[in-house]
Amino acid sequence: MVAFSIPSSVTYNIIRNVRENSIFSFKSLLIAGGVHATIYPEETLIDLNIDVVVIGPGEETILEIVDEFSSRNFSKIKGVCYKQDDSIYRTDERKLKRGLDHLPVIPARHLLPIEDNIMSNRLSNTSLKMTHVMFTQGCPYSCNFCASQQRKMQYRSAWHIQKELIHLIKTYSIEGFAVVGDNFLVNKEKTRNICGIIAGLDLKWSTLSRVDTVEYDILETMYDAGCIEIKFGVESGSDKMLKAMGKNISLDQICNAIKITNSVGIKVKIFLVH
Ligand code: SF4
Repeated sequence: MVAFSIPSSVTYNIIRNVRENSIFSFKSLLIAGGVHATIYPEETLIDLNIDVVVIGPGEETILEIVDEFSSRNFSKIKGVCYKQDDSIYRTDERKLKRGLDHLPVIPARHLLPIEDNIMSNRLSNTSLKMTHVMFTQGCPYSCNFCASQQRKMQYRSAWHIQKELIHLIKTYSIEGFAVVGDNFLVNKEKTRNICGIIAGLDLKWSTLSRVDTVEYDILETMYDAGCIEIKFGVESGSDKMLKAMGKNISLDQICNAIKITNSVGIKVKIFLVH
């Protein structure tokens, strides 16, 4: 089984090169997933000449595909697009679960080269030993340039995250981490719960945020929990452009977010679209 993750149109060309210039065993089952494949499942299936495309989050879908490795019958698996007898079929959408605690607490980092997972010099200009930890999936906003496909927010619970962080400290001696996920700060109560748990672990961390979801109180809580940097999706310095992007934020909100974040002692980076 060979599975390609295609997070963007840029990656798409890389994956197509890999597909065209590699030799696969005749019996290989070829799969693709990720944002690009989710938006263009049929096109990805035909263009890459593969067997099945996973639409949406793939953690559970891929396990069901593995079960059908021999039969190659994907008709009962929700959230896939597949080829059969020269025709293309798309199954019903896979419904999202309420949170993310149904996923295993600890991703199988040990199966990958350690240097791809545990790094230095990647956490806010420090040399701290760090890794990436997923807190959430999805984003309820709808900025019209964004590839984020999942509008429903899914959170891991604080205990679920804590278990993974303790494992990372014990196994890899990490000193910090970067939060993976579109928008960890949407639900303040959940953010506070998670910060309460992280605070006792003596780790430094960074995260992403919109400028209109931060307030002084929550920033203080994050700082106390070890947050050293926030990367804000600023996108543009023009109110007109922000409106055209459907970003639904103003220059005043951008300036305010940067000011209050710096005032609690957290560094700021910004992302711009151009
Ligand atoms: S807030 Fe960020 S992640 Fe959410 S839709 Fe806008 S750009 Fe995408």
